[in-house]
Amino acid sequence: MEKILVTGAYGLVGSQFKGGEYERIGSSDLNLIAQRDIDEHFYWLEKNDDLPDGIIHCAAKVGGIQGNMNNQGQFFYENISMNTAIIESARKFGIKKFIAFLSTCVFPDAVQYPLSPDKIHLGPPHQSNYAYVYAKRMADVQIRAYREQYGVNYFSVIPCNIYGPSDNYNLESGHVIPMLIHKMYLAKMNKTEFKVWGSGKPLREFIFSEDVAKLTRLLYDNYEGGDPVILSTAEEISISEIVRIIADLMEYDGQIIFDMTKPDGQYRKPSDNSVIKNMFPDFEFTPVREGLRKSIDWFNENYPKVRL
Ligand code: GDP
Repeated sequence: MEKILVTGAYGLVGSQFKGGEYERIGSSDLNLIAQRDIDEHFYWLEKNDDLPDGIIHCAAKVGGIQGNMNNQGQFFYENISMNTAIIESARKFGIKKFIAFLSTCVFPDAVQYPLSPDKIHLGPPHQSNYAYVYAKRMADVQIRAYREQYGVNYFSVIPCNIYGPSDNYNLESGHVIPMLIHKMYLAKMNKTEFKVWGSGKPLREFIFSEDVAKLTRLLYDNYEGGDPVILSTAEEISISEIVRIIADLMEYDGQIIFDMTKPDGQYRKPSDNSVIKNMFPDFEFTPVREGLRKSIDWFNENYPKVRL
């Protein structure tokens, strides 16, 4: 059986890798920002003949639009440090496979749609998350350079906006879906205002975290290419439509206010998912309403013991 190390194992995507073949580590188990700590961990595994065959690197410092805007420096430093360090350690210790996570926000702000992997470096990112994006783009550069020089079988995946259980529900720095669920829960309970950030008009593609883990594992077993692979449904939905479905599922009939003092961010980022469509034509994506229902159920069961 393959032994696969999953970093960020308690986060949104990492927590979806379930099964005996996964060695799961979170930020409290190993400091991925320090090359020396990773090397020491790998030396110890090597001594015990226990090195993984592959690594699925989900750990990242991430946030929603406001989290990115408020923490450009920290997001740059933490992401570029941990990616650079773990990819180098993986190579040094002869780890055969490595999958890095990028995101559809790595693409230039001004770009021809649909997004496809050859367009990552064609121009500057949106200003709201440029530091995170440049750090993530460097993982793509590092992997390309390592494939070329060392012949390693490493590649990246580029998911669209991910949502699901075990998300970050922080009311300032979270992504849109967990924040909307949390805010609606509070508005219902306390009979307070429910505010959506921005106009509600931006379009996004959302993918359920369980689908991301399933597709990543399918690629781990079947993909031999070097180009990053887009993980998306290729179906756009507006933020107001997401709000409408969440309100319906949470039985919220109060007022919905669109707070125009908050940023809309990129208007849209439709992507080309043809690689996964061609490789796995029978793969069934979780419909957004079902994914939202599961996410809301998880939140209701776990609140207030959720990540904030
Ligand atoms: P992005 O896709 O990288 O921009 O990340 P987000 O997950 O933060 O999605 C942001 C989009 O959702 C923007 O158009 C926001 O204006 C909109 N939005 C609406 N309400 C919220 C909210 O409560 N939190 C966040 N993060 N975004 C919101």
